[in-house]
Amino acid sequence: MVYDLIIVGGGPGALSAGIYAVRYGLDTLVLEKGFVSGQISTTGDVENYPGFISIKGMDLMEKFSEHAKAAGVVVENREVIGVKSDGDHKIVTTDSGDLKAISVIIATGAKPRHLGVPGEEEFRGKGVSYCATCDGPFFKDRNVIVVGGGESAITDSLILADRAASVCVVHRRNELRASQVLQERAFGKPNIEFSWNTILEEIIGDSVVREVALRNTSTNEEWRSLIDGVFIYVGNEPNTEFVDVEKDGYGFIVTDERMATSEDGIFAVGDCRKTVLRQVITAASDGAIAAYEAYEYVSAMKSKGE
Ligand code: NAP
Repeated sequence: MVYDLIIVGGGPGALSAGIYAVRYGLDTLVLEKGFVSGQISTTGDVENYPGFISIKGMDLMEKFSEHAKAAGVVVENREVIGVKSDGDHKIVTTDSGDLKAISVIIATGAKPRHLGVPGEEEFRGKGVSYCATCDGPFFKDRNVIVVGGGESAITDSLILADRAASVCVVHRRNELRASQVLQERAFGKPNIEFSWNTILEEIIGDSVVREVALRNTSTNEEWRSLIDGVFIYVGNEPNTEFVDVEKDGYGFIVTDERMATSEDGIFAVGDCRKTVLRQVITAASDGAIAAYEAYEYVSAMKSKGE
C-alpha cells in the first residue's frame, strides 16, 4: 500500500496538516511515537491562541485531537526511525516495519535542551525536571529553582509558585527574555525571587536532589543552596536526527515558505523547522501550508505516472 501522505508527529503542526490533507482528499496517515500531544501539552495556560482567552495546553491539544478524529485523520502509534526517498516514493521506516508514501510531512517538534551540568542526568526524575505541569505537584510547599529566563522558564515559574513554598529563578543575565506580561506577573509574585547573572554549576544530592552549586558570573562568588527541585528551561532542540535533509547548525530543518525541504516531496512544519517563531499558531499554520503543498506534489506525481 502506498499512502499519498505520511505525517510524522502528533502535535499541532501534524494534526493541522492532517485535517487539511484529509479535506484535500489525500490518503493520509499520521504516525506518533506516544500519545497525540506535542510539547504544548506540557504547557500550563496558553493565552495566545486566538479563540481561547486562556486554555490549558493539554486541553487545547485534546481539542486538536478531537477535531482531527472528526475530520477522519487516522493516527497510528509508531516510532519513526528513518525517512528516505526511493525513486518516486518515500520509505518511512518505523519500529514496526517500513511504510511507503508519495509525500511526507515532518512535524516532530523539539525537546527540552539539557544544561549539561554534573548531577543533571543522575537526578533526572529525582528532583530534576523539565516540566512544571508534569512534576510541579511533587513540590508542594518545597523550595525549587528554575534555570532560564525565557517564556518557558517564567511560565513554569508561575505554575510552580502556586504550589511550592519558594521559587528562585536562576538566570545567566540580568534581564529576562520572557514576554513583558509574564515578567510583570512573575515580579508580582511574593514567593518568586531572582538570582541574576548566576549560573548553575552542579546539582548535588543522595537519593534525591538536596542542594545546588551556583556562581555569580559578575563577582565570581560561589555558593551552595539547599533545594528540593531543579526545573531547567534553557531552550529546545529539534527531533530531526532520523531524516537526512538540509538542517541549520542546531539541527532545525531548513524549508522554504512552502515548507518544502531540500528533498522533493518531504516537507517540515512547526518547532522542528528553522523559523523565527515557535508557537501553536505558527505550527498549525505551517501544517495547513504543507498539506496544500503535499496535495499539489501528490497530484503532480500522480499525473506524471498516468
Ligand atoms: P528560549 O526562549 O530559547 O529561552 C531559553 C532561556 O535559557 C534564555 O533565557 C537563555 O538565556 C537561557 N539559556 C540558554 N542556554 C543556557 C545555558 N547554557 N545556561 C543558562 N541559561 C541558558 O527557550 P524557551 O523559553 O523554551 O522558548 C522557546 C520558544 O517557545 C520561544 O519562541 C518561546 O516564545 C516559545 N514559547 C511560547 C510559549 C507560549 O506562547 N505559551 C510558552 C513557552 C515557550 P538568555 O536569555 O541569556 O539567552
